[in-house]
Amino acid sequence: MVDVFDIEKRSAVMAAIRSRGNRDTELKLASVLRDFQIKGWRRHQALPGRPDFVFRRERLVIFVDGCFWHGCPRHGRKPDSNRDYWLPKLQRNQTRDRIVARSLRRNGWTVLRLWEHDLKNPARIAARCRRALTRAEERRACEMTAFAVTSSDS
Ligand SMILES: [Zn+2]
Repeated sequence: MVDVFDIEKRSAVMAAIRSRGNRDTELKLASVLRDFQIKGWRRHQALPGRPDFVFRRERLVIFVDGCFWHGCPRHGRKPDSNRDYWLPKLQRNQTRDRIVARSLRRNGWTVLRLWEHDLKNPARIAARCRRALTRAEERRACEMTAFAVTSSDS
């Protein structure tokens, strides 16, 4: 039997963990970006799914996903209690992540998703961000060339 009070209480606890966790991972990535001199990002931009970091010029967004909430294959262990409550909730998060990424990509954004656990290796994270920025920039350049060709044709 599922105890409703337990669920509510746990839900409140997890919500607290989530918001704190989010802030911690965001600040951690911000400091990695600063340490590795990766510039041009902003936070709190109004885009689908509220990406944690946005590079407007390159059109790159970065999400840092909590291992629990977004079902990391390594640490996204499903809770043992109240599974009827948690499983659909976690499932919904993952579905939402996919929908958000798709809609951003459709609008010309490159999407980089990092796991909370990736933050343990700052050098690797920085390298991945750099690669993603280069990729995003190349993609932008291609699109612009394509646009220039199309407009000079007409
Ligand atoms: Zn993980």
